[in-house]
Amino acid sequence: MASEFAPCSEAQKTAVLERLADIRQKIADACRASGRTEQDITLMAVTKTVSPELINLAVDHGVTVLGENRVQEFLSKRDSYRANAEVQFIGHLQTNKVKQIIDKVTLIHSVDSLHLAEAISKAAVQQGIVMPVLLEVNIGGEASKSGVAPDMLPQLLDAVRQFPGIRTDGLMTIPPPMTEESEQLRVFTEMRALFDRLRQDVPMHTLSMGMSGDYAAAIRCGATVVRIGSALFGARAYPPKSEG
Ligand SMILES: *Cc1c(COP(=O)(O)O)cnc(C)c1O
Repeated sequence: MASEFAPCSEAQKTAVLERLADIRQKIADACRASGRTEQDITLMAVTKTVSPELINLAVDHGVTVLGENRVQEFLSKRDSYRANAEVQFIGHLQTNKVKQIIDKVTLIHSVDSLHLAEAISKAAVQQGIVMPVLLEVNIGGEASKSGVAPDMLPQLLDAVRQFPGIRTDGLMTIPPPMTEESEQLRVFTEMRALFDRLRQDVPMHTLSMGMSGDYAAAIRCGATVVRIGSALFGARAYPPKSEG
């Protein structure tokens, strides 16, 4: 419910626009450093805990792709979003919630099991659509993280390709927090190599990697989508009752 959110102050809005200008500059710099162009990079605004008012401010300033983590939060906010906003799902998705979002998002970044791919396939076929997805890779090998292990990725890709109503457009990763740039470059280069290897057999064009702390390095390593939350909207304040 949008009413959970207090109206934003002018100072908050100014801060978002300043951060947006800064992010665009850093994206431009990373593109220049790696011989890429800014048109090749999608800047996604990650919306969790952020008020629709601030989200719409970003949309009005050209950030039209929104990343949603939580089904309930998304459903409660989406009626407040600008009509030209394009929503993609980036959070962990339970199979029983697929039906609630299948007709409301343009890309699901977080497919990491056959079970989830099958649920998406069924729901998409029912809707008469083809749902583009990314396979989420657990590049850091962290036990606590979702995502498929790199060595299981070719198998998952092959299996998902057999399902109707679903198309794999690329890969996504959430690496461990990395402060050292050299570490960021190493991990993102590894992702890029995985992506390039699979692309020899399967046409894929989307590499979703890079968040607030590491998007410049991700772009230098070939990211086509960077998912940015706190660097744009400020530190997240989680409400006392957080919903799935
Ligand atoms: C929260 C989140 C982000 C954005 O994180 P920041 O560090 O705030 O930019 C990106 N991707 C996913 C999957 C997220 O859950």
